[in-house]
Amino acid sequence: MIYNSLNNKSEPAKFEEAVVRGIAPDRGLYFPEKIHRLPDSFFENIESKSIPDIAYDAIAPFLEGSIPELELKKIISETLDFEFPVIPIHDNIGTLELFQGPTLAFKDVGARFMARCLGYFNKENSSQKVTVLVATSGDTGGAVANGFLGVSGIEVVILYPKGKVSKVQEQQLTTLGQNITALEVNGTFDDCQDMVKTAFLDQEITTQKQLTSANSINVARWLPQMFYYFIAYRELKKHNKPLVISVPSGNFGNICAGLMAHQIGLPIDHFVASTNINDVVPDYLKTGVYKPIKSSPTISNAMDVGDPSNFIRILKIFGNNFENLKEMLSGYRYTDEETRVALKEIHQTSGYVADPHGAVGYLGLKDYLKNHPNKYGIFLETAHPVKFLDTVEETLDIKVEVPERLQETLSKTKKSIEINDYQGLKKFLIH
Ligand SMILES: *Cc1c(COP(=O)(O)O)cnc(C)c1O
Repeated sequence: MIYNSLNNKSEPAKFEEAVVRGIAPDRGLYFPEKIHRLPDSFFENIESKSIPDIAYDAIAPFLEGSIPELELKKIISETLDFEFPVIPIHDNIGTLELFQGPTLAFKDVGARFMARCLGYFNKENSSQKVTVLVATSGDTGGAVANGFLGVSGIEVVILYPKGKVSKVQEQQLTTLGQNITALEVNGTFDDCQDMVKTAFLDQEITTQKQLTSANSINVARWLPQMFYYFIAYRELKKHNKPLVISVPSGNFGNICAGLMAHQIGLPIDHFVASTNINDVVPDYLKTGVYKPIKSSPTISNAMDVGDPSNFIRILKIFGNNFENLKEMLSGYRYTDEETRVALKEIHQTSGYVADPHGAVGYLGLKDYLKNHPNKYGIFLETAHPVKFLDTVEETLDIKVEVPERLQETLSKTKKSIEINDYQGLKKFLIH
């Protein structure tokens, strides 16, 4: 499979080249040249297929010629080595829990898949060391650190905005050691993301180091997120209703993978992009004008993104046709106050403890279903509530039990290097 840069000024790349580069030399995101389509018969008996088998059929054509079948099957089964339960909330609303992985947020799947792909490519070409450079608004860092920990030939450098991630998140990305380094940036997530993008173009760095990105701009992190939507459909087909999926969105990688899953044939009826006040995409869907903003901090901090990287891929999927896009995708935005009310409402009516991101997804779904009561909807629960302990406990006036696998992380000593600007990053990478 060939990947093209969406800026159209770089040479086409193979999957492994796209993964190792992260972003194309012309700063464009990579996008597959061809999009396959699974036959309708694939979905007729999808309930009887195993999740790894479904995942393999969905993603294999995108990796054709890059990873042999048995190796890819092994990568997939190791990646999906935990549960993805659907929990009913109300009559026609459920939630798909994507946080049962090692770092308690949905990003584990993409990070684990990408780490294993890079590990495989590195085995094939062991002379080339790779530095994974990643900006995190909270959960990516932990998932990437965990997914890449101890993978030989790979060094991981994580940038996170000082004071803007939760305690649990910070512990997860600053306590692992080994091949993982955390850089604590005096700035916002957007600053971190800009610094990463600049480093990729800085020849003084790239002549010394092979850099790659583990943000959802990397195709190996983006594409495996399609699996969630197949899992949801397999589980919910029995309701025999059009299926709507609401995705709490920040950088729009997850929902973009859902739209890709739809593009290869998955019968999802509609997608809802639910955001906090960083609402560039809902605003675009209303006005047709894309206006990046400076991100504002919220209680759903993993979605504090003012210029979502994957938006351009969404446009590409729909051939830049605004009307077609609007038919498949709605967008809603919510304040922190509304999010807290939703946390309470979910808890009071169903006993379920959501996290602030899931609560935003719930709100978007409810607003959409108001006008489409015949559909069945699920919102993605993208993080375990314990990752946002203070907000959840304070809002619901309850104690959230800390899962065992987190207690160890919480007791470790934080190690980070503070930097103020791009020069700080550059100095770190070059020396
Ligand atoms: C990263 C993240 C999101 C946003 O996902 P995108 O793919 O960036 O849109 C939502 N919720 C949680 C908990 C996250 O960690």
